[in-house]
Amino acid sequence: MKTLFAQSVPGRTGCLPPKPEHAAADMLPAGLLRKSAPRLPELSELDVVRHFTNLSRQNYGVDGNFYPLGSCTMKYNAKFAEYVASLPGFCNLHPLMAQLRGTSQMTQGALECIWEMERLLCEISGMDAYTLQPMAGAHGEFTGATLIAAYHRDKGNNKTKIICPDSAHGTNPASATLAGFEVVNIASRDGIIDPEALEAALSEDVAALMMTCPNTLGLFETHLPRIVEKLRRVDALLYYDGANMNAILGKMRVGDVGFDVVHWNLHKTLGTPHGGGGPGAGPVGVCSRLEPFLPVGRVARQADGNFYLDYDHPKSIGYIAPFYGNFGIMLRAYAYVLRLGGEGLTRVAEHAVLNANYLKKLVEHFLVVPFGRICAHEFVSSAPEGLRALDIAKGLLDRGYHAPTIYFPLIVKECLMAEPTETESKQTLDAYAAALEEIVKQGLSDPRSLHDAPHTTPVRRLDETAAARNMVLTEDM
Ligand SMILES: *Cc1c(COP(=O)(O)O)cnc(C)c1O
Repeated sequence: MKTLFAQSVPGRTGCLPPKPEHAAADMLPAGLLRKSAPRLPELSELDVVRHFTNLSRQNYGVDGNFYPLGSCTMKYNAKFAEYVASLPGFCNLHPLMAQLRGTSQMTQGALECIWEMERLLCEISGMDAYTLQPMAGAHGEFTGATLIAAYHRDKGNNKTKIICPDSAHGTNPASATLAGFEVVNIASRDGIIDPEALEAALSEDVAALMMTCPNTLGLFETHLPRIVEKLRRVDALLYYDGANMNAILGKMRVGDVGFDVVHWNLHKTLGTPHGGGGPGAGPVGVCSRLEPFLPVGRVARQADGNFYLDYDHPKSIGYIAPFYGNFGIMLRAYAYVLRLGGEGLTRVAEHAVLNANYLKKLVEHFLVVPFGRICAHEFVSSAPEGLRALDIAKGLLDRGYHAPTIYFPLIVKECLMAEPTETESKQTLDAYAAALEEIVKQGLSDPRSLHDAPHTTPVRRLDETAAARNMVLTEDM
C-alpha cells in the first residue's frame, strides 16, 4: 500500500484552516522561523479515511478472530472498560494536575481509583502494598529486581545473584541483569523446578529466586513450600512473575505462600489492550519488608480524607515512570475487577484452565504433547516428526487464525505454545483444532505444500534472515 506521501497531489486539500490573525513572524523570534514550508502530503479527507480504513483491515486482532498466542493472553477486551476509561472526567485530566496547587480537588476521583486499585490487588494477591507505575510486565520485573537490590543494600547484605529456572519467561533473566545481578540458571525436571538443582545453586550471595508460575510450559510449580523454605534459609527473597495470574485468580494468593514481590500484567490477566507493544501496565506488589523502597510518588490519604501524591519516602528507589504510569490502562483494569468481583475473577481462572486443557486434549492425537500432567492456562506441544512448527504456524494464517507462539520456550523442540484464554467458546476451539489437524495432515502427505504459506495474507512469507541483515527502513518517495 502506498504511503500518504506517495499519494500526495499538489494543491489537493481536505480542510481549510482559518487565516491566522497575526503572521508567525510577528510572534516568533526570527531564528525559530522555518526557511521553507514543511513537506506534508496534500490529500482530500476521503483519501485519508480510505488510507487508514484499508490499513486497519490488514490488522489482525482478537475482535476479528481467534488469537491463541501462548504466554501473551490475547483475550477479549470487554468494551465496558473502554467506556469507563473514556469518561471525560478521567481522560481530560492533565497528568500534572495532581501536583499543581489549586487543582487537587479535580483529581480526587482519579487518585481514589489508584488508591482503591492498589488495595484490590493486595486483597487478590495477599500482598501488603502495590505500585501501579511500571508500564509493562518486564518493567515490573525490573522494578521488582531493583526493590530486591535496595532491600539487601539497606540491610547490609552483600548479595549478587538471582536464580532463574530455565522454564522462566525470557524477560526474567534480562530484568535481573539490568538491575545489576548475575543470573544463575537452573535446569527443570519434569517441566518444573527441581528442588535438588535449586539446593545446589543456593549460597549466601543469592539475593532472590525469580519464578514464573505457572511456568512457560504451562505447568504449576508443585514444590512451592519447599522452595520458599530453602530460600529463606539463605535470607533470599522470592519473586513471583505473575504475568499468568489468570491461571490462579481466586485459587491461590502468592503473598500467603510466602512470596515477597510479584508483578501482574494488566494487559494479560485483567483484560486491558496490548496494543502494538503498549501501553501496558505491570503493577508490582510487595510484602511489608519491601514497602519503604517502592517508587514515588505514592497515593496517600490525609486525615480529612483527601488524596495526594506523597514523595516523602527516603528509602524509595525513586521514579520508575513519568507521573503515575498508564492511568487509562489501570482504569480499565479497575473497572474489570469491580465488574467481575471475586466470583467472576475465580471463574476467569477456572475457564482459562479448562479451555487450555480441552484444547490440549483435542490436539493430542496429531501433535506431540510432552508432560502428561494437567496444564494451567496454556500448554506446549511439538510439531510431529517431519514437520516444522514454522510451517504449521504459516498454514494457520491462511485459514484465518493467528498462530500460537512458536520456538518458545527453548527447552521444547519445534515448539507450538497455545493459550486459548477463557473468553473463547467451545465452538471456536473445536474449529481451530480441526483446522490445525487438517494442516498437519496436509504437511505430512505433501510437506512442500506448506513451505510457501501463507498465501492469503497482505504480506507473504518473509525471509527473516534477510529482513534482519539487509534492513530497508525507508521508502523511496
Ligand atoms: C508477557 C510476559 C512477561 C513480559 O511482559 P511484557 O508486558 O510483555 O513486558 C513476563 N513474564 C511472563 C511470564 C509473561 O508471560
